[in-house]
Amino acid sequence: MKKFLLTFLLTGFVSVSLLQASNTGNPEKPKNVILLIGDGMGFAQVQSAILMSETPSNFLRFPVTGISRTQASDKVITDSGAGGTALACGKKTRNGMIGMSPDSLEMPSLIDIFSSLGKATGVVTSCALTHATPADFLAHDISRKNLEAIAEDITKSPVDVLIGGGLNNFIKRTDGKDLTSVMKANGMEVFTCLRDVEGKTGRFVVFTADEHPVQANQGRGEELAVSVKAAIDALSKDNEGFFLMVEGSQIDWACHSNDSAYLAAEMRDFDQVLGEVLDFAAKDRNTLVVVTADHETGGFTLPGLTEGSKTGVRYAFSTGDHTACFVPVFAFGPSSEYFTGLYQNIDIFSKILFSTNIAR
Ligand code: MG
Ligand code: ZN
Repeated sequence: MKKFLLTFLLTGFVSVSLLQASNTGNPEKPKNVILLIGDGMGFAQVQSAILMSETPSNFLRFPVTGISRTQASDKVITDSGAGGTALACGKKTRNGMIGMSPDSLEMPSLIDIFSSLGKATGVVTSCALTHATPADFLAHDISRKNLEAIAEDITKSPVDVLIGGGLNNFIKRTDGKDLTSVMKANGMEVFTCLRDVEGKTGRFVVFTADEHPVQANQGRGEELAVSVKAAIDALSKDNEGFFLMVEGSQIDWACHSNDSAYLAAEMRDFDQVLGEVLDFAAKDRNTLVVVTADHETGGFTLPGLTEGSKTGVRYAFSTGDHTACFVPVFAFGPSSEYFTGLYQNIDIFSKILFSTNIAR
């Protein structure tokens, strides 16, 4: 009887495992990769999103999870410049650097690498395209503060689809240049309205704001999810596959301001984006989805329950800055199994290349 029960349990376990394996789709190498970065998104930020979600959170749909160590080459606590460079270029660097090694050498990013292999590439963000995280994938500079130089670098990136804010860094410049004409000369269509790129193919940029897009709880609406859908629609028409980086930028800013209502709105927004991406990946079965953060911000924690609050969750922040805390990794789709374990942020870059059969 006991043996029967054990067999039953094991069979049940195996079938659940098989089900999960089939959820991960094609066991072959993925054709497409979507990397999502929640800037400043630690474990408690994710847990708060799961706790407050009225429908089951999309974070619960990932069959594989891992843990990333985020420190920079020179500091235990990283900034987004070095943290994003580690993910984009696979090397730890100094805080403040954009796509450069500690000795100030330019490094190719995942956008450069996948573009050189003939794949379509894209970057979508809820901040200015010149801000640290997207810049890490598109530019090279010794300082994240050199926004005009970073904008100029972005015009030289082989990237196909760009959606984010920061138009002023391209047109209202101290050197008087209009970089949108440079982009057009390079074969990139330039838009300021997301509706205009519906059904569009080829290279394009959509500037969603002159500076940064507004906060999720101050009228940004579903802009990030709509942007991600537009990017996937365009990039997935490429027969060779695509690489897309999506950033939920303002999770970090909400945590810097220790503003739990702002954070809740940004996490809800990011969760919705995950739903958009996972729906595509589940249907496509040939797309690896990886979600992580560049670092944790705010030392955010969930210290207890508050009677009568909607979710029963009480929030607390322990700092207005970044922390050295580990951050979570979530993976879905072919080769997602490589992302289990505790590893360095730069290993995410290597795992993405390894999973797509590119030796580095
Ligand atoms: Mg960022
Ligand atoms: Zn920050």
